[in-house]
Amino acid sequence: MTTTTPAYIGRFAPSPSGPLHFGSLVAALGSVLDARHYQGRWLLRIEDVDTPRTVPGATDSILATLDRFGFEWDGDILWQCQRTGAYAAALEQLKTGGHVFPCACSRREMAEVPDSTLARDGSRRYPGTCRNGLPPGRAPRAWRVKAEGVIRFEDAIQGRQEEDLARDVGDYVILRADGLFAYQLAVVVDDAAQGVTHVVRGADLLGSTARQIQLQKLLRLPVPAYAHLPVATNAAGEKLSKQTLARAVDEIAPARALVAALGFLGQHPPTELTHASLAEVWDWAHAHWRLERVPRHMQRIAPAAD
Ligand code: GLU
Repeated sequence: MTTTTPAYIGRFAPSPSGPLHFGSLVAALGSVLDARHYQGRWLLRIEDVDTPRTVPGATDSILATLDRFGFEWDGDILWQCQRTGAYAAALEQLKTGGHVFPCACSRREMAEVPDSTLARDGSRRYPGTCRNGLPPGRAPRAWRVKAEGVIRFEDAIQGRQEEDLARDVGDYVILRADGLFAYQLAVVVDDAAQGVTHVVRGADLLGSTARQIQLQKLLRLPVPAYAHLPVATNAAGEKLSKQTLARAVDEIAPARALVAALGFLGQHPPTELTHASLAEVWDWAHAHWRLERVPRHMQRIAPAAD
């Protein structure tokens, strides 16, 4: 028997910090439709690496919602909370290569550095205090990657991207002071472990992609193709999240919510689809999905739920 690796492996990787909202529904829908368009596999990963942000019951609620909406993932779910050994091995590999350094700086100390300029996303860029060795008498709190090089990639929706890691991001944490591995490392290790070839996700993560590509290169892992969907915002332009009190999509009938998400993704579902069955909505979506119709915007206002 010969086994062939599918040319397309996609995934949806929700963080269990609350119930599924319209923004995550859009990411789930865009990623599964694109994977199926290429007869690919679509995997599910629960990104519960950030345990303090994990809300009890959120994973069950997300899985129940995906199921009720008719999402069908392939294979077993990968849980980041069970992957600490793989992240530790990746950190060791980066240490051996001399790509990371221990850092003793506290958040307060960093905030006090007067001449540190801001990173591209407006956050404070690491001033480099511990880059060439810990100051005498200081104990390491976290591990940072040396941000080096210019990363260029073609995003299938947002177009050509370029980031100068040292200038636009700065040295970034992959093992946090609280002992947890950071999202940037976990996502790279897991995308490779799951054989992911195509990442379709919200454009709020576009600014993380260059760091992830740097890590893939340092760890000699394949670089997947990226497509960043517009992020759903409220009328005030704020990303939908628990903080902006985004309603759980569960409060809307599944077929109706999926049609709204298809419209948000520029697929122009016919009006009568709103009254169709869930199976008919999926059939229409699979038959009509075109990534090139997705609006090339970083964000869009989500349709009002009624
Ligand atoms: N866990 C992240 C989130 O829920 C998504 C990570 C990814 O798709 O790379 O925002």
